[in-house]
Amino acid sequence: MIQVKPKKYFGQHFLTDLQIAHNIVESLPSDISSVLEIGPGTGVLTQFLINNKDINFSAIEIDTEAIAFLHEKFPNLHLIEGDFLKMDLQKEFGKQQFSIIGNFPYNISSQIFFKVLENRDQIPYVVGMIQKEVAERIAAKHGNKTYGITSVLLQSFYTIEYLFTVNEHVFDPPPKVKSAVIRLSRNNVQKLNCNETLFVRTVKTAFNQRRKTLRNSLKPLLNGLPTPEPIFNLRPEQLSVSDFIFLTNLLEEKLGK
Ligand code: SAH
Repeated sequence: MIQVKPKKYFGQHFLTDLQIAHNIVESLPSDISSVLEIGPGTGVLTQFLINNKDINFSAIEIDTEAIAFLHEKFPNLHLIEGDFLKMDLQKEFGKQQFSIIGNFPYNISSQIFFKVLENRDQIPYVVGMIQKEVAERIAAKHGNKTYGITSVLLQSFYTIEYLFTVNEHVFDPPPKVKSAVIRLSRNNVQKLNCNETLFVRTVKTAFNQRRKTLRNSLKPLLNGLPTPEPIFNLRPEQLSVSDFIFLTNLLEEKLGK
């Protein structure tokens, strides 16, 4: 086991507890063949992944100092130098499936999840450490105050598990927020049972004014059409994924007539 000395990059927090690093890596299911690590930094997770002969492992890192450090520490690492958000996944993986792991850069964790959603049919699992509040929001069930756009969109195509909370003191420097590790596992939904573009617009429009009833928050989509159905009395956080599908079909029917 390599004991890495964390370096300090502005705005990033490096995990120093090797047991937790090990637990994060162990949270990946064993039936996977390819793994991409986002933001290896000083390699605290990488060291547990690189010697696994059963997986095809690569990592993407944006920071030049970290890149130089990783090349030296792990000469055999397939390291992609650049920004995950701009990465051409098809160029790297073709049509192959790959899972994602990382102690994510917290400032772009939502964008990482949106990129996962766009490429969902290639990404069976994601194990990520993120800010605790973001993890709670993604994992929240309907009826919960933190349930929102990312919860609905991600839960449409992934089963979300909040795995464990990570205390700020195991990072260098300690962040101001607590962290948590979550696992996303692709469900078997290939296509939602509705117009998916309208579904996304409906979810976003509804949560844009989350305290209002759908009758009011969805006005921008409704073109003044009447809304006698009881579902319009609800607020967005009361709707499950399948309720949103039902609502989307209702809207499509109204708008089409
Ligand atoms: N995995 C390490 C580092 C976590 S900090 C650990 O647990 O200690 C987040 C890492 O993501 C940093 O190394 C940072 O340089 C890198 N990073 C930030 N933005 C990135 C991006 N857009 N694409 C790839 N890596 C990024």
